[in-house]
Amino acid sequence: MSSPSGGRPLPAIHVLDSDSAAKIAAGEVVERPASVAKELLENAIDAGAAHITLEMQDGGLSLLRVTDDGQGIPASELELAFQRHATSKIVNADDLQAVATLGFRGEALPSIATVAQVLVTTRTAGATAGARLELHAGQVVQAGAAGCALGTTLTVRNLFYNTPARFKFLKSPLAEGGQVTRVASQLALAYPGIAFTLRGDGRTIFQSSGNGDLRDVVARLYGAEVSRAMLDVELCEGLQVRGLVSHPSLHRSNRNALSLFVNGRWVQSRPLLHAVEEAYSSLLMVGQHPLAVLHINLDPSQVDVNVHPAKSEVKFAAERQVYARLRQAVAAALDWAAAQQNTTGPRLTPETEAAPSLFASDEGWPAASFPGAVPAMSWGRDAPPAQAWAMPGASASEGSVLPMLRVLGQVAQSYIVAEGPGGLYLVDQHAAHERVRLDELERAQAAASGRLPDVQPLLQPLTLELAPALLAAAEQARPELLKLGFELEPFGDRTYLLRSIPAVVPLAEARHTLSAILDDLLLDVPGETHEEHLLHSLACHSAVRAGQLLSQEEMRALLGALEACRQPRACAHGRPTMVHLSQAQLEREFGRR
Ligand code: ADP
Ligand code: MG
Repeated sequence: MSSPSGGRPLPAIHVLDSDSAAKIAAGEVVERPASVAKELLENAIDAGAAHITLEMQDGGLSLLRVTDDGQGIPASELELAFQRHATSKIVNADDLQAVATLGFRGEALPSIATVAQVLVTTRTAGATAGARLELHAGQVVQAGAAGCALGTTLTVRNLFYNTPARFKFLKSPLAEGGQVTRVASQLALAYPGIAFTLRGDGRTIFQSSGNGDLRDVVARLYGAEVSRAMLDVELCEGLQVRGLVSHPSLHRSNRNALSLFVNGRWVQSRPLLHAVEEAYSSLLMVGQHPLAVLHINLDPSQVDVNVHPAKSEVKFAAERQVYARLRQAVAAALDWAAAQQNTTGPRLTPETEAAPSLFASDEGWPAASFPGAVPAMSWGRDAPPAQAWAMPGASASEGSVLPMLRVLGQVAQSYIVAEGPGGLYLVDQHAAHERVRLDELERAQAAASGRLPDVQPLLQPLTLELAPALLAAAEQARPELLKLGFELEPFGDRTYLLRSIPAVVPLAEARHTLSAILDDLLLDVPGETHEEHLLHSLACHSAVRAGQLLSQEEMRALLGALEACRQPRACAHGRPTMVHLSQAQLEREFGRR
């Protein structure tokens, strides 16, 4: 896709009249390095660039630099670009009815310049010399001519250096860098026709070719195997929906790989995401999400982009139709895949056909048949091993603060219903298993001075091609991951060999679990050390999930193990593992008291 402005050059920059400016959904555009990156990349796209490079240092905290080969800014307009509500993209409020560019508020450059040190060099096609402008905390410190290539380079140093209160709210460079990577990846998916390069601390994190092929960009971000396994979506009547969605056997436990673009704009709209997921309704287990990259294009006058300060939400004139068309487009791709499957044999088994039991062996596409698969995906059904919560050595009476519970059944494949001397207990199976796992892991770790002793060495190492956003996390956490039992060995640019895994993780789940743990590392949890964070994450991701059918035997084993825990009533994150209805409460509810 070309730039949303359709390649037309932008007119001159001017300050919007106060009336128009007032109609713009204003908001803070500079919250963190990722928001700066987004604004600068969008400006480069609006300027019609064919090549865009984003460099960052320390996750963007010390430096963010975007270089483009777009139309450049005329020297005479450069200072104006840093004034509030100065834009070349709309002339007055009427133009808000049909915005064809990503930017339109004229707020990004002044807002960024106010809280950082900014240097711009730029040259337009007609000009013999370029221009240069340097601002510190919004004040011009130097302006003049510069010899530079066609296009614009904008460098932002020391974000929030003059506003320590805001600097304090930033996360670690790793977490901030992960978000910058995410923003850049999304824009690369939105514009396959633009060659994007992302570099972090001197190293190339990813690069897209700009050849216009969406599958190519998906391959760069999620791996070649995933890209090949995606299904084409194409719907062109009225509203246009194009892109790629995953076969139901390929899914993730979060929505990070669900990307939707409306007229070239990355949107995170719940109703739109919901429409896509609805097409998968019964094809995915609870808690699993498809991968999708969908470009929705419609007449700009049918979309209101001026509803959200970060421009990440939009409003449609005909909402219902848009959602219905989107769902139809995805459903058609899935139907096509199901029909193919019927003619080519049972190789691709949709999730629904097999009962999701803990004991069932992994069918469908086993992870091992995809040596290059990006680990953030889970292939086939996810099933932690059934033996996992049997705890030799810990007898049920030891340190028990829970009474013995008798299993009555399971509700919604998520809660265990049990009876005890004190009344009725509803136990959240995931939270309970997470608590059991954490206790188990902590005990094992304490017994082996900080290392998990139960490690499965892999005879044949698994290859892991890591998504760009996870690379830095993996590199940084390698020593600590080793202590948990994940031995990672660098193998090429974005690839690692996984030589061993913790015993609590089944082989078929290894890639998925590890990438879920790396995903978690990008979140900062206050009050938790790195080691604790990793251990909690391993406990969580190796625990049984909501939506899994459990046998009586499994439920009994889980409750037995929970009874032996030191804090059976709360999971590692402090959420309750159970709800208790006492005999007295039951009697009150039924009017017996
Ligand atoms: P907006 O994008 O909403 O117009 P900005 O503050 O982001 O506001 O940018 C102000 C103006 O500066 C833009 O309208 C555009 O004319 C110019 N500009 C900013 N970045 C670039 C760039 N990379 N290439 C060309 N022009 C740019
Ligand atoms: Mg802009």
